[in-house]
Amino acid sequence: PDIRTIGQLFQTGVLKAVSKPRYNPNVAFLDRISLFQGDITVMEVDSVVNAANESLLGGSGVDGAIHAAAGKKLYKECAGLGGCETGKSKITAAYKLPSKNIIHTVGPVYRRSDVETVAQQLESCYRTSLNLAIENNLKHIAFPSISTGIYGYPIEDATHIALDLVRRFCDSDVGSKASRSTCVVWSNKDKEVYETLIPEYFPAP
Ligand code: ADP
Repeated sequence: PDIRTIGQLFQTGVLKAVSKPRYNPNVAFLDRISLFQGDITVMEVDSVVNAANESLLGGSGVDGAIHAAAGKKLYKECAGLGGCETGKSKITAAYKLPSKNIIHTVGPVYRRSDVETVAQQLESCYRTSLNLAIENNLKHIAFPSISTGIYGYPIEDATHIALDLVRRFCDSDVGSKASRSTCVVWSNKDKEVYETLIPEYFPAP
């Protein structure tokens, strides 16, 4: 990212100062971005994002956890959606989850031989998820670390892509109206990566 430009944006008041955690000590609040370590299925947000596969019929990892927690009605709704292309997103109800909706996005399987394509697809997951959230008036969205589990995307690379896109979305006309993103990490290693990189994209004053 162009760090200097981001710093200047901060000075123009686009970003506000760090505020104290409110509902969970594991959450490090900034105005537009926060970090949560734990199970995404317990998050009381407007929308949680599911790292799904093209069938949208459930799978392992975060996908399995979301389907298990949301219940069978989620499977039924997903079965009617006709799948989803890699890099695209579709929205459903959240059923037994405490969030209002679920946005299912299909991350790329990492391919070292075609880094550019997978990077574009991963970025598109974040962009299409945020656009869907805005279209449905969902302001607070929780993202898992898409593609970095079974799909093998290196965590540092994936986190740069995620934070860069979220940052640019926050600064865009549509994203500046609302949108708060919480990045949900499971492992300590992933938490460290996000803690290191968030200040790069969302610098404190
Ligand atoms: P993908 O197939 O897109 O790689 P995975 O579900 O395998 O998706 O992994 C994505 C990330 O989600 C991994 O970092 C994994 O540790 C994490 N994860 C797995 N279960 C949960 C959960 N219940 N809540 C939040 N994150 C989870």
